[in-house]
Amino acid sequence: MAVIRIDETHRPDLRSFVASANEAGSDFPIQNLPFGVFRRRGSTGAPRIGVAIGNEILDLSACAALGLLDPAGPAVAAACLAPALNPLMALGREAWRGLRLALSHLLAEDSPAVRRDPGLRERILLPMTEADLLLPAQVGDYTDFYASLHHATNVGSMFRPDNPLLPNYKHVPIGYHGRASSLVPSGTPVPRPSGQILPEGASSPRFEPTRQMDYECEVGAFVGAGNVLGHPIPLAEAEEHLFGLCLVNDWSARDVQRWEYQPLGPFLAKSFATSLSPWVVTFDALAPFRAPPSARGEGDPPLLPYLDAEEDRLNGAIDLTVEVHLSTRRMRESGAAPVRLSRGRFRELYWTMAQMLAHHASNGCNLRPGDLLASGTLSGPERENRGCLLELTWRGREPVPLPTGESRTFLEDGDAVTLRGACEREGFARIGFGECTGTIVAGQTR
Ligand code: CA
Repeated sequence: MAVIRIDETHRPDLRSFVASANEAGSDFPIQNLPFGVFRRRGSTGAPRIGVAIGNEILDLSACAALGLLDPAGPAVAAACLAPALNPLMALGREAWRGLRLALSHLLAEDSPAVRRDPGLRERILLPMTEADLLLPAQVGDYTDFYASLHHATNVGSMFRPDNPLLPNYKHVPIGYHGRASSLVPSGTPVPRPSGQILPEGASSPRFEPTRQMDYECEVGAFVGAGNVLGHPIPLAEAEEHLFGLCLVNDWSARDVQRWEYQPLGPFLAKSFATSLSPWVVTFDALAPFRAPPSARGEGDPPLLPYLDAEEDRLNGAIDLTVEVHLSTRRMRESGAAPVRLSRGRFRELYWTMAQMLAHHASNGCNLRPGDLLASGTLSGPERENRGCLLELTWRGREPVPLPTGESRTFLEDGDAVTLRGACEREGFARIGFGECTGTIVAGQTR
């Protein structure tokens, strides 16, 4: 697939003049170059597109105004002046690649532009600590899939012990239409929602704050160039339409979900907030970490032709690990470090992002630049791979012990959940995703 290409921007020996980008363990080395949208703290100006480099942000609006993005072409430079990533996402892969190369040259240790003008640094970079990171794109539509066979099997066996995995699972990528308006950037507090709940043993529901607040550790993909209504996207072309990945926490009220999910699927149990990490790591940055999907194997039913392509079988997955950390209010007050709740691998999903996108468009549904497709909860075969508390505590039966003597079955007010992701492979720079964090706060009850 022409889509996956390793070039000079991936060289492990590349270094940046931004010293923090060269430190071991930095999420944002010069090989990463993830895109986001920020506003300088205290400013009332329009949001700007930025690129994370070490612990600083390269201001692409400033770069475009100074002509520094001209090597990527006028359309790219114009798109970088926008207050969201949608126009850049719409331009397609050759444009993104040209911009990535221009940014790699601009930020390199021997950057010709900075050598010519040592004062340039001040005009195009700002510390990340001086910025508020916003949603990367205006998300028109958000779809949440259910691509982890392990998650589907675990949840199914709790609610339908005699029939855990529904017969369609290995044939059709299952998803539901989420709510784009309640997507929030990392760091936004998450009020505990109220909803209809049928208490155990009761015959009629009550309306009250959820007692089973949960998170779901997921990976999200932003759609780049879209498709015209009525024109499906073949699997072999699907990755041409994928811009990049972020981390997603699909907060879930389990008691509300249990009462409402049949017959049409999740609704208010999910639509009160979904948190996104602020930096979008491009598929181009992830080229060195491609891998075969590992959840599908012999004995699984054959795929329908529109969901099958050799390149997808060989390289459709991405070897990305995402960890979930919990910090309670009492843990923070006592100085205890956050505890890791789980660790999931993105390549263990049953479906690849390309298959999810091709399936989504297979009926002619039009996807638009900035649409978000989330993977579904990232769970794996072991207990430490369970990507939500519902699974981790097996529906509340096995509480998670914490260093303060507290324990959790579901989240309490004051609990902060943080997702962190990274790709690592011998011979390449480590690519980090930064973090996706949110703290539960008491909600309005009316
Ligand atoms: Ca989900």
